[in-house]
Amino acid sequence: KLVLGIETSCDDTAAAVVDETGNVLGEAIHSQTEVHLKTGGIVPPVAQQLHRENIQRIVQEAVSASKVSPSELSAIATTIKPGLALSLGVGLSFSLQLVHQLKKPFIPIHHMEAHALTIRLLNKVEFPFLVLLISGGHCLLALVRGVSDFLLLGKSLDIAPGDMLDKVARRLSLIKHPECSTMSGGKAIEHLAKQGNKLHFDIKPPMQRAKNCDFSFSGLQHHVIDKIIMQKEKEEGIQKGQILSSAAHIAAAVQHTIACHIAKRTHRAILFCKQRHLLSQSNAVLVVSGGVASNLYIRKALEIVTNATQCTLLCPPPRLCTDNGIMIAWNGIERLRAGVGVLHNTEGIRYEPKCPLGVDISEEVGEAA
Ligand code: ATP
Ligand code: FE
Repeated sequence: KLVLGIETSCDDTAAAVVDETGNVLGEAIHSQTEVHLKTGGIVPPVAQQLHRENIQRIVQEAVSASKVSPSELSAIATTIKPGLALSLGVGLSFSLQLVHQLKKPFIPIHHMEAHALTIRLLNKVEFPFLVLLISGGHCLLALVRGVSDFLLLGKSLDIAPGDMLDKVARRLSLIKHPECSTMSGGKAIEHLAKQGNKLHFDIKPPMQRAKNCDFSFSGLQHHVIDKIIMQKEKEEGIQKGQILSSAAHIAAAVQHTIACHIAKRTHRAILFCKQRHLLSQSNAVLVVSGGVASNLYIRKALEIVTNATQCTLLCPPPRLCTDNGIMIAWNGIERLRAGVGVLHNTEGIRYEPKCPLGVDISEEVGEAA
């Protein structure tokens, strides 16, 4: 079995050809990050235009690199939910054209499901396992019981941690920092935090009283931005765009606070699943993925949690943690093998900008605590 995967849900145009055993035969990606960094965020029509300009080339590159003839493909898998409407639309209409042209089955993919299943391309991870997805656009904890069988234990009630880190980094003008100018906001904060004291500023973790697995980052973001504004007033004579002398302390405190928040929620999710016998008592697996998962400080905090609960912590390598075509193709393989969601007729298929992952049991988790 061979699947071509196509991803355009956000700001990366990506494609890959993957076989049944998880071999990546060909891959190509075009990142729009640089363009969006300049505007300080993704402008959807710009993202759409860039996807349009690149999708044909990227898919062609992935297929030629794979040395597979298009007629040998078993199916085409494409992200159709959730994501930016304008971006999803480009990937979907391109894929449908290709599907009709090549007369292949179509496998619509849920972007978060693909992130969650990526680990199985690399390791023999059996169902069920717990997954924590932390990125610029998403934040959730879910129990993965099967290829398309998810229990949503918790999610962010507002923004995602990567989004928050990006906004804080922008307020700190880290893009002007000589050591961080080419880094994403989250990476810049991780880098700078190493030079700071996390206890210099007192920043409280969010949602301390809510005993569930939900997350929140927007209160924290405003609190930190207030602190930055205060510091700017204190550090008299600081020019617009100049780096605060306390920037490293702020970075360290923010990183520490979100690490504690994420670790606490994850700990609760593990205990809940074990109590309900939804996860193995002795060899449960926690998979952490998404761009923020590459943060080593947050990973350390999660390691403490998994060590204390006899769980194994697994993270895909960074290039598979962020958006890519491989995970979409692999999700296609998983669905082909399980025989779920493989379409031979694509009539009426639509993209869905908003689409929750699995069955939401987050209220039940809160009540159980
Ligand atoms: P999606 O939610 O659809 O995956 P996305 O493109 O925003 O969307 P990713 O590409 O997975 O998400 O990750 C990007 C995010 O990860 C950015 O917000 C970035 O700041 C953050 N990030 C990257 N490296 C680090 C790091 N070392 N520490 C913390 N955050 C990081
Ligand atoms: Fe993603």
